[in-house]
Amino acid sequence: MRLASRKRARHGNWMSTSPSIELDTLLAGYRRFRENRWNPQHERWSALREGQSPRVMIIACSDSRVDPSQIFDVDPGEVFVVRNVAAMVPPFETTPGYHGVSAALEFAVQVLKVREILVMGHGMCGGCKAALTKELYGTTPGEGGFIADWIGLLDEAREDVVREHGTEGRQAERAMEQAGVKVSLANLRSFPCVQHKEASGELVLRGSLFAISDGILRFLDEETGEFNPALQDQ
Ligand SMILES: [Zn+2]
Repeated sequence: MRLASRKRARHGNWMSTSPSIELDTLLAGYRRFRENRWNPQHERWSALREGQSPRVMIIACSDSRVDPSQIFDVDPGEVFVVRNVAAMVPPFETTPGYHGVSAALEFAVQVLKVREILVMGHGMCGGCKAALTKELYGTTPGEGGFIADWIGLLDEAREDVVREHGTEGRQAERAMEQAGVKVSLANLRSFPCVQHKEASGELVLRGSLFAISDGILRFLDEETGEFNPALQDQ
C-alpha cells in the first residue's frame, strides 16, 4: 500500500467523518476569507511568500474577544503577534524550560527588527481576575496549575492593587488589568536587546488596554501611569 492510501485508510476522510458545527463555522469563514480577502489580495500574498517585515509586535491576551488584527484592522504581514493568558511578558530568564514568549520576542526584535512593541491588555480579563483572587492558587498542572503559575507573574503588582482596592469588584479588576500591562512593559525592559534598542531609539514600547464593553482603546502614559483614550474624539 502506498503511503498516501495507507494514511487515508487509517484516518478516513476526516472532514466527512467528523462534521461539527464548529468546523462548519470555520469552513464558512475560510470560504469568505478566500473570496473576500485572499483572492483580491493575491499579489500581496505572493509578495509575502518571500518573507515578512512587520514593523510592529503586539503582545495581547488569548481571549477570543481581543484579536489585535481585528482591532487594528491590519493586512496580513503587518503585525507580529504573541497572545497568551493576560498578555504577559515574562522577565528575561535563562533557566531551563520552554520560553515561548521570549523566543517570539527575540525573533521580532533581533531578526524582524520591529520598530514598536505594543502590549495590549483588556477589560474583563479572566487571567488578571484569577491573579487578583488567587482562585487557582495551589491547583495542579492541568487543573489550573499552569494558569496559576503563569499569572504568578502578577503577584508583586497584585499586592499594591489589593492594598488599595481589595480583591473583588471592577475597580480592583481594572487596577489589576492596568498593572498587568505595566508589569509586561517592565519585563520587556529586562531583556538586554530591548533595553539596548529602546535606549538607542530603534524601538518604542507602548502599553495599552482595550475595553471590551465600549470598544475603546487606551494608551498608557508612562509619565503619569494613566490610560488615556487613543483617539481624541473618544
Ligand atoms: Zn485576558
